[in-house]
Amino acid sequence: MAARLIDGKALAQTIRDRIAKDVADLQARSGIRPGLAAILVGDDPASKLYVKNKQKACDAAGIYVDEHKLPATTTQAELLALIEKVNADPKVHGILVQLPLPMQIDSKVILDAVDPHKDADGFHPYNMGRLVEGMAMFTPCTPKGVIKMIESTGVTIEGKRAVVVGRSNIVGKPAALLLMHRHATVTVCHSKTRDLPGVCREAEILVVAIGKAKFVTADMVREGSVVVDVGVNRLADGTFVGDVDFGPVSERAGWISPVPGGVGPMTIAMLLDNTLESAKRFAALA
Ligand code: NDP
Repeated sequence: MAARLIDGKALAQTIRDRIAKDVADLQARSGIRPGLAAILVGDDPASKLYVKNKQKACDAAGIYVDEHKLPATTTQAELLALIEKVNADPKVHGILVQLPLPMQIDSKVILDAVDPHKDADGFHPYNMGRLVEGMAMFTPCTPKGVIKMIESTGVTIEGKRAVVVGRSNIVGKPAALLLMHRHATVTVCHSKTRDLPGVCREAEILVVAIGKAKFVTADMVREGSVVVDVGVNRLADGTFVGDVDFGPVSERAGWISPVPGGVGPMTIAMLLDNTLESAKRFAALA
């Protein structure tokens, strides 16, 4: 039986429509318009496109964008000075530093310098710590979107066997924590995992975030499972595919997210959501 589609694009649009209403409400009630500082360093075409899409989504939702495009030669000290400026700017409630940063800049130093109360990506150690505790202030956008996609299927997470393939700080680890907080029994896999296909086959919920085109094949997937594909891989012909071999896997899974049109749009919607939630917290303090 063919799997049902987890339509991230449609779900993201519904969420963005709700956010636009909330943004207008917040502004009417408190005079505060949510604002996002979007910082791009260098000319990486993919990063430029990601930032442009995030800006467009903010514009559509009524979120103010404080845009900073810096040259690839920017020094760490220059970027730190900008972070300090946006940290102090009352019009800014969320800060996005598009990764990767050029070689001369230590991403960790920059991400640690972002005010944890404006850390819309949820990468600051303070927010990571709160996430571990199950008391997140900002939840990283991609895993937050993944959870909303799983929840949109109506499949209960509690008690399920969940497998997350990939253990990065921005996707795999937080996705595993969020599933654990929702009472799934979670296994995290990585490049040293033995018998990865066998572990994946146990998954009732399978989240894949490794960055390897069509890596997860149908024989690695449990019949009827929920499969969320985070991967974005550019093929030689310029098209994009996920980490999951979509066609054959959709013959086995119960639910599957496509690439493109799956996790990507949800990541953007969650960035908007995090910025709005932050602005609401600032409004409550004002
Ligand atoms: P990273 O490169 O930071 O991490 C990749 C992870 O995959 C690592 O933990 C690595 O293991 C694991 N891995 C790599 N190869 C294998 C393998 N053969 N078997 C098992 N595990 C493996 O990637 P990210 O988490 O940043 O991103 C993952 C993918 O998701 C990428 O394609 C990225 O483009 C995409 N992405 C998409 C987003 C979206 O909004 N749609 C947002 C963020 C990412 P180890 O730790 O052992 O090295």
